[in-house]
Amino acid sequence: MQGLMMQQPLLVASLLMHAERHHSDREIVSRRVEGDIHRYRYQDLAQRARRMANALESLGVARGERVGTLAWNGYRHMELYFAVSGSGSVLHTLNPRLHADQLVYIIEHAQDRVVFFDLTFLPLIESVAPRVTSPIFFVAMTDRAHMPSDHALGSRLLCYEDLIEGHSADFDWPLLDENSASSLCYTSGTTGNPKGVLYSHRSTLLHTYAAALPDSLNCSARDAILPVVPMFHVNAWGLPYIACMVGAKLVFPGPALDGKSLYQLIEQEQVTLSAGVPTVWQGLLSHVESVEGSFSSMRRTIIGGAPCPTAMTTAFQERHHVDVLHAWGMTELSPVGTVCSFKAHQTALPEAERYALQAKQGRSVFGIDMKIVDVAGKELPWDGCAAGDLLVRGHWVTHEYFGGDYASPLNDGWFPTGDVAKIDPDGFMQIVDRSKDVIKSGGEWISSADIENVAGLHPEVATAVCIAARHPKWDERPLLLIVKKPGSALEAQELLTFFDGRVAKWWKPEAVLFIDAVPIGATGKVLKNKLREQYGDYYMSL
Ligand code: ADP
Repeated sequence: MQGLMMQQPLLVASLLMHAERHHSDREIVSRRVEGDIHRYRYQDLAQRARRMANALESLGVARGERVGTLAWNGYRHMELYFAVSGSGSVLHTLNPRLHADQLVYIIEHAQDRVVFFDLTFLPLIESVAPRVTSPIFFVAMTDRAHMPSDHALGSRLLCYEDLIEGHSADFDWPLLDENSASSLCYTSGTTGNPKGVLYSHRSTLLHTYAAALPDSLNCSARDAILPVVPMFHVNAWGLPYIACMVGAKLVFPGPALDGKSLYQLIEQEQVTLSAGVPTVWQGLLSHVESVEGSFSSMRRTIIGGAPCPTAMTTAFQERHHVDVLHAWGMTELSPVGTVCSFKAHQTALPEAERYALQAKQGRSVFGIDMKIVDVAGKELPWDGCAAGDLLVRGHWVTHEYFGGDYASPLNDGWFPTGDVAKIDPDGFMQIVDRSKDVIKSGGEWISSADIENVAGLHPEVATAVCIAARHPKWDERPLLLIVKKPGSALEAQELLTFFDGRVAKWWKPEAVLFIDAVPIGATGKVLKNKLREQYGDYYMSL
């Protein structure tokens, strides 16, 4: 017997329609590339998105065709999120931190018909444009007054605000198949070419519901959300969609991601919830500490994309009264997979145990199932000790990469994440390492994440990175690379002694090297492969 409920497709445009109807006056504030602060309301967003949907039609963009964006977090980018997907074409967010060769590859592979870009990226677009044939137009996301007069794009260059002004705000969002594609995001491809992950309207909506929940990213109409995580990287962890669903105020940082600018914005706009990778928060914390500042409104921050060091959790929670929500996910998962929020019996745990729990990446949100397996594919127990390959499946997990030129990544219906993890009896998953980063010492595994976490607790350590270095006797041993806090005279031996009693003896690194800075990749994460190339033979030459 069939149920007797309405069939309404889950569509991205419905999020905007909801926000316009129920939260029309809620603000969206953006720091613009032009330098000033722009503010408007959800009703303005909705109206301009409809104008842009008409503009896309006039540019000849057909349903299912891809539209690229090369842009910071801001209101025009938000308009494109809804105008493109809502009208039935596919929003393809491009990562401006990628090398021009990779951008050329991605634009051609996706066959983007139009590429929208922030003025910051004009030189990049000029270098890419002669090498790509699929885009007919490039649209500068600015007004007529700020349009570049001298450029190499000829008649392919259009002005965003001209398109908005030239088109009507009357547009009926089409009733699409909920399984049709809504957006496309390429993995950053630290090895090989980037691969495209193609989200559907349905997967996006289900992800939005689940990610907004109190035990997930915990978003509500009373929040002012600052997504520092870029809209060009896995849709800013879904926050633009979530904000529409719950009616939260949105605060976009534009290109100004330094600690000082972020702090100003957080205070000025009374941000309550922010989201970003640990490297960005490092900058914010250093600034706030240097000016002896405090957060007057921010009460929660979501940290993910890389392990959140316990030292960072402590700094936010103890010094600044900002709760840390440690989360794990990946492009292939839209991205939210697990979030570390306490279960009832854990709230009263002693402080040290709660911090140990918060170092874990957390438990599955409803909609994601996970398991760990050994090399033979046999499922491992959830005992907090056994570590194995982490596999997931769920409503918003990819089953195939875009373009049809790759074999399905699935393993018996499960997606292999490339991460090695443990799961404890409460269902809290902890990433031991990415499988390519794990240190194999004498046939046993050492978690580089754990070593980094301990080193980060030393008060004079700014950044700690642990890599597998080849070793004549043990195959690999941990090598610790440290950026010291300014003015620190920390010695290697002192830091090594700090490990005594904090990790098993054989986990202790053999050596510490002090470096000036760590290389950061396109998504704000430490490029361990670069460090391995540079320092991987350190023990071989001793
Ligand atoms: P890439 O970095 O390859 O572009 P993603 O941005 O999708 O791809 O990153 C996904 C990977 O980032 C995960 O597989 C995992 O290794 C790592 N990651 C994400 N969140 C966390 C976290 N909280 N702790 C540790 N690692 C994380």
